[in-house]
Amino acid sequence: MDLGLTGKTALITASSKGIGRAAADALIEEGCQIAICSRNKEDLLIASSEMKKKFGVEPFWCVCDLNKLKDIENTVNVVLDQFGKIDILVNNCGGPVSGYFRDLSEENWEDAFEQVLLSVVRFCNLIIPDMILREWGRIINITSVAVKQPIDNLMLSNSLRTGVIGFAKSLSNEVARYNITVNNIAPGFTLTNRLYDLAVSKAKLTGESHEEVLAGMARQIPMNRLARPEEIAAAVAFLASLQASYITGSTIQVDGGWIKNLF
Ligand code: NAD
Repeated sequence: MDLGLTGKTALITASSKGIGRAAADALIEEGCQIAICSRNKEDLLIASSEMKKKFGVEPFWCVCDLNKLKDIENTVNVVLDQFGKIDILVNNCGGPVSGYFRDLSEENWEDAFEQVLLSVVRFCNLIIPDMILREWGRIINITSVAVKQPIDNLMLSNSLRTGVIGFAKSLSNEVARYNITVNNIAPGFTLTNRLYDLAVSKAKLTGESHEEVLAGMARQIPMNRLARPEEIAAAVAFLASLQASYITGSTIQVDGGWIKNLF
């Protein structure tokens, strides 16, 4: 299916690795002009050269710490200088630190708030006015299945990602008349560095090996396996597409059936 994305421009945040990187790959493959960003310049250089090898096109990249307003403003400015517009904004972020309520400091909460929720608000603030003028846009937030079912030991993620869902739903109502859709993807357990690190930290608590922890996660999933990042990215590409024009304010689980609720 041609998703109609040739010539669209997309900014994907926190995209040097993992789900963000897979989303960038999917959109570049669909013919988008891509901007990627993350905190680490070396990781961006690696991602950029891998994408050039794979797709024959180098993405535009920019160092951006999602916890810093100045970095976010700079990123939007340089991407607009480069492409003149941003049609698709994929708000991904690094995972907040794991921990139960008893483990977390005020600083942990502030860091997670800035990265998980405030960065989404900030990017939308800077990008949506131009989408409104052009009467077209796609905002896609990468959240987690934790928005449907809290996950043990992930207090920050469980708490703040639901804020993204509330923000997105409210925003979707405000901007729908301008052909701007706002949706969320809720990935289940996906094999990336983040999941590996979580498995290592859980293994320390339980005395299992991290391989056993990962196998235990897979056993909870009806598909009996973890997701591949590109399976999350396929949903990003579809929500960005012309065909997804009437889907807004939705949260789409990509979780191999992990969530057991009907809705
Ligand atoms: P990952 O660790 O593989 O990649 C995270 C990316 O974010 C990297 O490119 C990293 O450089 C970047 N990053 C981290 N902190 C940043 C910051 N302050 N500013 C800018 N960039 C930053 O993670 P992932 O597994 O791809 O997860 C992406 C998001 O999806 C996370 O928020 C994670 O919690 C969430 N999620 C992941 C899973 C999973 O199983 N992997 C499941 C549900 C939700």
